[in-house]
Amino acid sequence: GPKSYSFMLRTKNPCGKVPNQLYLTMDDLADQFGIGTLRLTTRQTFQLHGVLKKDLKTVMSSIIRSMGSTLGACGDLNRNVLAPAAPFARKDYVFAQETADNIAALLTPQSGFYYDMWVDGEKVMSAEPPEVVEARNDNSHGTNFPDSPEPIYGTQFLPRKFKIAVTVPTDNSVDILTNDIGVVVVTDADGEPQGFNIYVGGGMGRTHRLETTFPRLAEPLGYVPKEDILYVVKAIVVTQRENGRRDDRKYSRMKYLISSWGIEKFRSVVEQYYGRKFEPFRELPGWEFKSYLGWNEQGNGGLFCGLHVDNGRIGGTMKKTLREIIEKYNLNVRLTPNQNIILCDIRRAWKRPITTALAQAGLLHPRYVDPLNLTAMACPALPLCPLAITEAERGIPDLLKRVRAVFEKVGLKYSESVVIRVTGCPNGCARPYMAELGLVGDGPNSYQIWLGGTPNQTSLAKCFLNKVKIQDLENVLEPLFYYWRRKRHTKESFGSFTNRMGFEKLKDLVDKWE
Ligand code: SF4
Repeated sequence: GPKSYSFMLRTKNPCGKVPNQLYLTMDDLADQFGIGTLRLTTRQTFQLHGVLKKDLKTVMSSIIRSMGSTLGACGDLNRNVLAPAAPFARKDYVFAQETADNIAALLTPQSGFYYDMWVDGEKVMSAEPPEVVEARNDNSHGTNFPDSPEPIYGTQFLPRKFKIAVTVPTDNSVDILTNDIGVVVVTDADGEPQGFNIYVGGGMGRTHRLETTFPRLAEPLGYVPKEDILYVVKAIVVTQRENGRRDDRKYSRMKYLISSWGIEKFRSVVEQYYGRKFEPFRELPGWEFKSYLGWNEQGNGGLFCGLHVDNGRIGGTMKKTLREIIEKYNLNVRLTPNQNIILCDIRRAWKRPITTALAQAGLLHPRYVDPLNLTAMACPALPLCPLAITEAERGIPDLLKRVRAVFEKVGLKYSESVVIRVTGCPNGCARPYMAELGLVGDGPNSYQIWLGGTPNQTSLAKCFLNKVKIQDLENVLEPLFYYWRRKRHTKESFGSFTNRMGFEKLKDLVDKWE
């Protein structure tokens, strides 16, 4: 029956780093135990759907054996730590990735209990002994952490899942402001990492018809020297553990704590655990969205090649071709927070044969992919996610074609694009509240329309309309895109345009549209 297919397994690999052997294993497992495709997630991990309960033990131990990548379980509340996926050899990128690894190790639970919950009470493996991270137990640094057998999580678990991203200045490939904690490497004039700007309090999830739940952007907390980072992360996590709401899951994410306290009070409580003061946030250049598609220099003689994966779903010819290339050249890969894949450490001599193989399979960017697809994301939704109200992944290919048709009708060029994200429920896994056009399932075949995100993911969208039937989308999109083309300032993005015009005016234009 359908129940036997309700299992979903997710790997945990900080920075989206996937060693050669792990990729090949996941590729095999998808055929043997899954539904024949690999799904990349918006948190740089693999998801395997359709794993039968009787096979779960084999699947999990294969993953552990081939890589020692741990598995994110539902009791393990710290979600995969994001970092830019590009394998640049530059010091700040390498440092961001090391920091993400260290934070992930710091927050790995020390008990096998978490994994039991994941498999419905059946113990299939014991947790590996964690790497020893000094910041866990030790107060000699001047910190004031409470005594506890499991130092980070304490005797009680964190109230809710916890999301962290690390990046470098300008690189917003990680959607930094949507995380509970956002960490940005700050370097000196020679590019040597010195410390970090810390953001706190981002989060996407909300509940329909409950205005007291909302998506929120992270805000600046302060700057810390680099040697303090694990203490600071721990102090923030402990602040949330001790003070986050537990009476109602809807309000238990850290964004609600910060929203109710205000950033000043939150900062001063964190400082008490941390044992010192934050320095002022450092001034940094603005954010840009980076996709790393196509061929790039790593900066150490090697090359990398970023490939677009529609909705993170690798199947068919793409799956076969990627496997052949990755196996033949023994490549490591990385997964991006935009559900794409990067082939890493490619020697110059391999560039031509790999290009040929990719081109034959129709995988080379950008000629074969509509620009709308390049930034679009959808969550798995129906039939795979139990919370889904509407289609997302299965519906988005048709949706993007319809948007493209509207573009043509109102005279927008093929090269033009907007960031479109679709989810099957308000939980917001594909971060629709950061999109220029976000669709959030709110009833049978109907969606909320969110507008106002920007291409560099720095502004929060707002709900423009509720309950728009999927078949009626053109009635809304045609006037919006028509007036964007007609009235935009030079190079003004669709998101900035909708914000400048204001929703009242836009609603008026939509209502009057014939
Ligand atoms: Fe499931 Fe909702 Fe997340 Fe989509 S956004 S994957 S429907 S929980």
